[in-house]
Amino acid sequence: MPYLQPFDPWGSKLCTCPPKWSLNPYTGCGHRCLYCYASSFIPRFYEPRPKKDFLRKIERELEKLPENSIISLSNSSDPYQPLEEKFRLTREFIIRLTSKKVKLLIITKSDLILRDLDILSKLEVVIALTLTSKSLSKILEPGAPSYEKRLNALKEIKKRGFKTVVRIDPLIPEINLEEAKEVLYESLPYADHFVLSTYKAKADSLERLCKAFKERELLLKRLYLKEGIFVRGSRYLPLEIRRKILLPFIEVIEKTGKSYALCREGLKEYATKKGFCDGSFLLFK
Ligand code: SF4
Repeated sequence: MPYLQPFDPWGSKLCTCPPKWSLNPYTGCGHRCLYCYASSFIPRFYEPRPKKDFLRKIERELEKLPENSIISLSNSSDPYQPLEEKFRLTREFIIRLTSKKVKLLIITKSDLILRDLDILSKLEVVIALTLTSKSLSKILEPGAPSYEKRLNALKEIKKRGFKTVVRIDPLIPEINLEEAKEVLYESLPYADHFVLSTYKAKADSLERLCKAFKERELLLKRLYLKEGIFVRGSRYLPLEIRRKILLPFIEVIEKTGKSYALCREGLKEYATKKGFCDGSFLLFK
C-alpha cells in the first residue's frame, strides 16, 4: 500500500478539510496520548516503529504526486515523536521536498520541529502545534514534550515568520476545559488560525481516560455512551453540550478577528468554510 494516502477521516461528511495527502513516517506514536483515536485502528500503536523502507518508497511516490498537492504530516502519528530523534525520517522526507512543488501542513506536539526550521523555511508550509492543557498534559500526553516547551516552540516558529495554527483539540468535558482556556489566551498572540474540537470517543480511548480520571468515569460514560450520539465510528457528545463547550473559545477568538474552525463538529453556524478546518488556506495567502 502506498505511504501517501488521500486524507479521508472515515468518509466523515462533517470534515471541512480540502483534498490533501496524508503521510505518516512512523507507525504508532510514542506520545501515548490517552485520547488518541489512531490506537483504535492501528495494531501495536504504542510500540511505535519506522515505516519499512520509508525513504526509498516515498521518493518513488513523490515522483507521481501532482504539483501543488498538499501533504499533511501526520494524521495518525506525530512526525516529531521521540523516534524521530534517532531515525530522522521526517527530516529526510522534508529535505526531499525542497526540489518539489508541493505544499506542506505539519501537525505536531513536539518542539523537536525547531531542529528542522532551516529546511522548512525553503518550503510552502503551515505549522500546527497541538496544545490541550498545561499541567494536565503530563497525564493526557505522557510521552509528549511539556506545555511550556510546546508554547516556546510556537513562539519561536512565529518569530521565524512561519504561518501557525494552534489546535486546541480535544476539549474533554470536566477535564481540560479550564486549562484549555488558559492555553487559548497564552497562545493567541502567536497563532494565525485556531482549530477547536471536542473529544470524540473511541472505546479504547474512553477507557484510558476513565482509568486516568477515575472520579470522572461515570460522568464521561453517561455523556458519551448514554446521552451521546454515534457518528462514523466515534461517540460524540450531545450537540448542545458541544456548542456550550466550544462557544466560550469561539467568542474569545472572534474578538481578536483571527480565524478559527471546528473539526468535525457539524455546527454550521460557525466557521466551516471549505479549507478552513486544518488551516491549509494559509498556504494560499
Ligand atoms: S501525538 Fe497524535 S498520533 Fe501521537 S498519540 Fe498523540 S494523538 Fe495519537
